[in-house]
Amino acid sequence: MSSKPHVLIIGAGSTGSATAHDLALRGLRVTVIERGEIASGTTGRNHCLLHSGGRYCVNDQEGAIECIQENLILRRIMPHALELNDGLFVALDDEDYAFQEKFLAGCQECHIPAREIPVEQALRIEPFLNPNIKGAVQVPDGVFEPWRFCTSFLATAKKNGATIRNFTEVSDLVFQGNSVAGVRVFDHRTGKTETLGADLVVNATGAWAGMLAAMANVDVPVAPTAGVMVTLGKRFNNMVINRMHRPHDGDIVVPIRNTSIIGTTSWRVTSPDAIEIPQDQIDTMMCAGELLMPILRQARQRGVMAVARPLIASANIDARDFSRTFEAFNHRKQGGAAGIITISGGKTTTARGMAEKVSDVVCAELGINAECKTKTTPLVSYRDFYN
Ligand SMILES: Cc1cc2nc3c(=O)[nH]c(=O)nc-3n(C[C@H](O)[C@H](O)[C@H](O)COP(=O)(O)OP(=O)(O)OC[C@H]3O[C@@H](n4cnc5c(N)ncnc54)[C@H](O)[C@@H]3O)c2cc1C
Repeated sequence: MSSKPHVLIIGAGSTGSATAHDLALRGLRVTVIERGEIASGTTGRNHCLLHSGGRYCVNDQEGAIECIQENLILRRIMPHALELNDGLFVALDDEDYAFQEKFLAGCQECHIPAREIPVEQALRIEPFLNPNIKGAVQVPDGVFEPWRFCTSFLATAKKNGATIRNFTEVSDLVFQGNSVAGVRVFDHRTGKTETLGADLVVNATGAWAGMLAAMANVDVPVAPTAGVMVTLGKRFNNMVINRMHRPHDGDIVVPIRNTSIIGTTSWRVTSPDAIEIPQDQIDTMMCAGELLMPILRQARQRGVMAVARPLIASANIDARDFSRTFEAFNHRKQGGAAGIITISGGKTTTARGMAEKVSDVVCAELGINAECKTKTTPLVSYRDFYN
């Protein structure tokens, strides 16, 4: 038996993986429980954009600042999981071009390095861009590989003593009085059920956070907000191509491995497990993608996917305008069950910052004084995950 407090993290997407690393590095005993494969939730099926923050610098500056800060940290700690290819914001018409001024001001206010480049230069770098663009600005966007992103954090957590159990589903929480004292799990590989004790449980289940919290009879304001993405059978761009306007449907083309992904839409869903993909949204993606890069009209669709963002809901605001920031909820302090903390919101790009925030809350709750060291600790390679 270890005398270290035991923290059980539910979910091995980007948030749970980064949290396992943070808490293991602070010296706690950590177990991660994931119902599927690592990154099999939203993290494994998104655009893979390492945000510079440019996308949010006008209408969500809090989210934009978090993105650029974390982007710069991830470049240092996990270079092996990233492709540092930069991004271009391009103006297609006069309205976009008028927005460029606000965009450059927003980048400056959020400390995002941005550089206006001549249209001819943009077309030389990205020959498949719409030749009629009116302006182009380069920002430090990039691309992450989601499996490597998560397994780099988890491999480092394992090196520091963490246990990772995938294909193991939390079916219920175990209570002692009004306090969560562990979880009931079903192992999908063995078909066995068992009970695991914990000093504290972290709910890092992303868009499923509301369902998990309901097991503790607590509420989290998570709004599963779906988006459709179309993956093309070839890579047409090297930099991330964004349209120069407020985030909208089909305004981004991200190159990942040998494909380009067009994204995305945004609508609220009731269950992240049952997202229907309407054909008209796929058509919208193709039409909007073609405006940015006309060649996409002829491209073969390799696949279409939809997943839900775990955004924090705000009353009377359209889902597209929910902030991309994140929050840790200590349910005991809100008058609910003790022994369980939920982390929600954010993006894969901000996973390390989310982990720092929830780990601070975990340590405070356990009465542990341990500093976060993840900003400066390089991660081991994802290759070490199975060693
Ligand atoms: C369309 C779209 C595009 C996006 N594009 C980007 C992008 O380009 N860049 C970016 O930075 N962010 C992007 N995001 C946001 C990003 O994908 C999410 O914010 C992030 O993946 C959330 O990670 P997470 O770990 O919180 O959730 P998840 O990755 O969903 O992880 C939660 C995990 O919990 C597990 N789980 C659930 N219930 C249980 C249970 N009962 N027992 C055990 N395990 C359980 C699930 O299987 C899942 O693996 C995008 C989101 C969407 C929807």
